[in-house]
Order: sequence, then structure tokens, then C-alpha cells
Amino acid sequence: MQHESTPDTSPIPRGRSLPPEQTLLSVRGLQKIYRTDAGDIEAVRNLTFDLGKNELTCLVGPSGSGKTTLLKCIAGLLEPTSGTVMLDGKAVTGPPKKMAVVFQEYGRSLYPWLRVDANVELPLRNAGVPKAERRQLVAEALESVGLSHVPKSYPWQLSGGMQQRVAIARAIAYKPEILLMDEPFAAVDAQTRADLEDLVRSIRKQLGVTVLFVTHDIDESVYLAERVIILSSSPTVVQEDLVIDLPEQRDQLETRALPRFTELRHHVYEQIQLAKKGFRPDAAQAQAPVR
Ligand code: ADP
Ligand code: MG
Repeated sequence: MQHESTPDTSPIPRGRSLPPEQTLLSVRGLQKIYRTDAGDIEAVRNLTFDLGKNELTCLVGPSGSGKTTLLKCIAGLLEPTSGTVMLDGKAVTGPPKKMAVVFQEYGRSLYPWLRVDANVELPLRNAGVPKAERRQLVAEALESVGLSHVPKSYPWQLSGGMQQRVAIARAIAYKPEILLMDEPFAAVDAQTRADLEDLVRSIRKQLGVTVLFVTHDIDESVYLAERVIILSSSPTVVQEDLVIDLPEQRDQLETRALPRFTELRHHVYEQIQLAKKGFRPDAAQAQAPVR
């Protein structure tokens, strides 16, 4: 397939494979076919990638490319048609204990009749964590997301951004090894979104948690991640696994003003445009993406 590409100034590094001792999550040949009355829908065809320990990876791809499907399979909420998901060397067959998920619809994920602290505490209570330890973990989680001052508020008394902080606090309270986030900031304003992005980076650093973050926002993916996995259109394969070689210390103004940031976002944008046009790295006639 032919496509136009503007010349760039420096090579874009591609993804790399990880040795087993550095790998936390391993997805191998994942396929998901939805069986519906109207026929079969092959949402995900063949996904293979590893996530490193303490790595922050963003997953981008056209709408309908199977990002949510993939996350549900990883979270053990949906059974793959074929292929495997391994966490810490063990096959995922149901929701793993050491995994937490934050979805976009925080409004629906928090219980309106429970105060902030009780919302954060609920999964700990369900897991049978003793009361004193629960209190401690809830206090730490609220501190991490900057909400120590509102433990007794109800979710509906808080702004959208604060509600999403509550959802994040609930996810990190039981100290997961891996945090999956599915377009978590799609519904908040730009300033709040920037603050929440920085919060995710600081939490990752503070807790040493592995993060897989789905977003349709290209700038967000480059700003947040050490690595961006670009998905093809459905039926989905990995189109590119890109290392984001920006300095570890990120800053909303400075990082986004770096020439390298612009190059990387340009590259991801181009790849998604290709995906939308139906480019597939697995198609027989397709060439490898330019560069
Ligand atoms: P994304 O999150 O990238 O927008 P999804 O994973 O939501 O994509 O959907 C991928 C494809 O699978 C779409 O074609 C969608 O219509 C289809 N799909 C998702 N969920 C279901 C379902 N429960 N039953 C049938 N098809 C589904
Ligand atoms: Mg989705």
C-alpha cells in the first residue's frame, strides 16, 4: 500500500521485547470474536505484546478497534476466543486480585449513597481486609490523589475531576500491581485532564504500578507513556509498538514544547490515519509502515 509521509529528522525507535523477569503482563495471540444474532464480529484478531514491570504504556487506535475489548480480556471480564493473557506468569481466567480497572464513566462507577471514604473502602471490605488496615489504606489512597480533605463528601458533591480522583483512589487502595484505565479522562475539561495526567504519572512512580492506559487522544498518549501501542482497525492487530524516548520528568508546558514531542505525536497521528484508511501490517499486500 502506498501512502504519503513527511520526512522526519531523526529515526523513531520501534518497540522492543522484554526478558521474562522484567515482564508483568504477557498477551499472546489474543483473538476475540463476538457471537451475535446478526452473525460473528471479529473485534480483535491477533494481539501479542508484553508490558514491563512499572511501565506506563498507552494504547491508541481508531474508534471500534477493540481497545475496550482487549482491556476486558486482560481484566478477566471477557473470555478470549483464542490466545492467552498471562499476569506474572499465571494465566488470567477471571478478575485477578492484583489488577485494578478505571473506566471512563466514573459517574456510574461510584456509589452515590456512599461517602468518598466508603466508596474507596468498599473493595477492601469485600476482600476481607481488617478494619484498621482498611482505614490506613483508604487514607493513603486519598492522600495520593489529593483528596484527603473530602473523605466525608458524597461523590455528587464533587466536580467531575474529583470524582475521577475518587475512582483512581479506589483502584489504587488495594495496591494493585497493574492498573488498567479505559479512556478515563474523556469526560473532563482540558485543565482537569492535564492535572489528572500528571497524577497518573506521579502515582505510577510512587506506587511502582504498571499502567495500561487507553486513550483516543494522541497528545495524551505521547505525554503520558514510555511506550505507545498503536492498534490497527478491527479486526485488530498491533500496528506499531513505539518507544517514547522523552525525558522521564514530564511537564505539561515544557515537554509538549519539545521538538521530539512534536515528532512523536506526528508519527502516532500518521499511523492512526493509516489505520483508519485500512492499512494492516498483517495484510499480504501491505508494506511495513514508512520509516
Ligand atoms: P474501542 O474500545 O476501540 O472503541 P470496542 O472494543 O468497544 O472498541 O469494540 C470493538 C468492536 O467490537 C466494535 O466493532 C464493536 O461494535 C464490537 N463489540 C464490542 N462489544 C460488543 C458486544 N458486546 N457484542 C458485539 N460486538 C461488540
Ligand atoms: Mg472503548
